[in-house]
Amino acid sequence: MATTSVTFDPSPSRAGAKGAKRARPTAPPGKPPRPWVVHALAWVAAGGLVLVLASGIDVETGSELRAPGGVAIFVGSLTGLVGMYLALLMVLLVSRIPAVERVLGQDGLVRWHKWLSPWPLSLIGLHAVFIVVGYAEAAKSGILQQIGTLVSSYPDMLAATVGLALMAFAGIVSIRAIRSRLRRETWWVIHLYLYLALALSFAHVLALGPSFVGHPLARILWSLAWLATAGSVICFRILLPIVRSLRYGLTVREVRAEGPGVVSVICAGRGVERMAISGGQFFEWRFLARDLWWQAHPYSVSALPRPPYLRLTVKTVGDHSAAVARLRPGTRVMVEGPYGAFTRHAQQRRRTVLIAGGIGLTALRSLLEDLPQASAPVVVVRVSKPDDFVFRSEVEALVRHRNGTVHEVVGGRSKVRFDAKVLATMVPDIRQRDVFVCGPIGFVEDVVAMAHRLGVHRSAIHYEEFGF
Ligand SMILES: Cc1cc2nc3c(=O)[nH]c(=O)nc-3n(C[C@H](O)[C@H](O)[C@H](O)COP(=O)(O)OP(=O)(O)OC[C@H]3O[C@@H](n4cnc5c(N)ncnc54)[C@H](O)[C@@H]3O)c2cc1C
Repeated sequence: MATTSVTFDPSPSRAGAKGAKRARPTAPPGKPPRPWVVHALAWVAAGGLVLVLASGIDVETGSELRAPGGVAIFVGSLTGLVGMYLALLMVLLVSRIPAVERVLGQDGLVRWHKWLSPWPLSLIGLHAVFIVVGYAEAAKSGILQQIGTLVSSYPDMLAATVGLALMAFAGIVSIRAIRSRLRRETWWVIHLYLYLALALSFAHVLALGPSFVGHPLARILWSLAWLATAGSVICFRILLPIVRSLRYGLTVREVRAEGPGVVSVICAGRGVERMAISGGQFFEWRFLARDLWWQAHPYSVSALPRPPYLRLTVKTVGDHSAAVARLRPGTRVMVEGPYGAFTRHAQQRRRTVLIAGGIGLTALRSLLEDLPQASAPVVVVRVSKPDDFVFRSEVEALVRHRNGTVHEVVGGRSKVRFDAKVLATMVPDIRQRDVFVCGPIGFVEDVVAMAHRLGVHRSAIHYEEFGF
């Protein structure tokens, strides 16, 4: 592990700065979420769906429906059109439009993306089946013969067929049982095929779709919607991270041991003082070292920025996190973010309870630093061994400053119980508090269930899961 003499002073900087001996430059606070933006966009998306349905139904005449294969072709066209529109929404959801991400968080967006994804894929699959059946009925030919005719003699159908095959492949791989067997990086690359599939399918919709043939306005609107979607992905997922990374100019300054298998990486950059970030947020980090440059992983900031320094803290669980512990000072760093709605902006009540499972302490540590003094936080830390409670002195200082309390639950799961009864004893007024939970997925699910059982309102439960 490399060490140099960097002074990263973890004592309170923003909300806890009162009483500090000397003024320290701080980064601006993170931007607050504006829920109305998401409500407005949801209405636009719903309006778009109505428009798409109307345009798909309106173009069919009675005689076309009564002709051989007419009903199947109508159903096929409509399912294709709606499927492509839902695919557009699915892509938009993961384009990480900052104003939307700030409200829903990356995990919220991914949840919606996952919830939506079976619909476009199934509808597009149904579209292919109904169109082949309908065209075969109309031409009085066999199914296989009709597939051959469609692919070989209709404009842009070969590309669309390749697109359909890619979509089917990506869809099958995304099934939980299959996905869980793949490395995340493999799954991610396969998932990218969906973008290629949609690009390949685009032209045949305009060339053959009844809603577009002879309807120039509809063609223009559809093309604009897809251009805007592709533009959002390119802008927010590629260009913005590159521009921000160049502006921040981050490099690794120090890798510091914090506990068993846990290191903090302290980065420095010339633009950190302009970084608007809330405690609890995370970046997708790309370390430009030989084995790491090709993958970005999410790690929370474990403290608010101390310009020119920024700190992340990583527990070794696999290849990437192990390699992070071996980073050398001087390694350049690219970041995408900050992301996440697990921030003080989510707070609904005056007082809070913060519950961390293991390395979930990282996000809770920076969130705690960002909470107002009146939040009187009760911090509950669940770890297997006493040494796993990293940042103990920092957490205790931050809690003391806010007149809160710290509880430790130490020991293996089979030996030391942590359930709703224990939680209620530690936080008797939990129903009057916001509950922030962070840690591995299973831990977060358990604690969220406990909070529900203890009567905490849904809107007051906020969580960040360290996994996918
Ligand atoms: C929002 C968020 C914030 C996080 N913050 C921290 C943090 O501050 N400190 C910390 O130590 N860990 C954090 N994690 C977890 C961290 O991202 C994973 O431990 C790390 O990516 C594991 O990669 P690996 O190659 O070492 O291990 P692998 O063996 O590849 O993965 C181990 C497990 O980590 C999860 N994981 C792997 N890659 C990713 C990815 N790209 N996105 C999401 N989950 C992944 C999966 O659940 C996987 O099963 C965070 C995760 C998320 C989603």
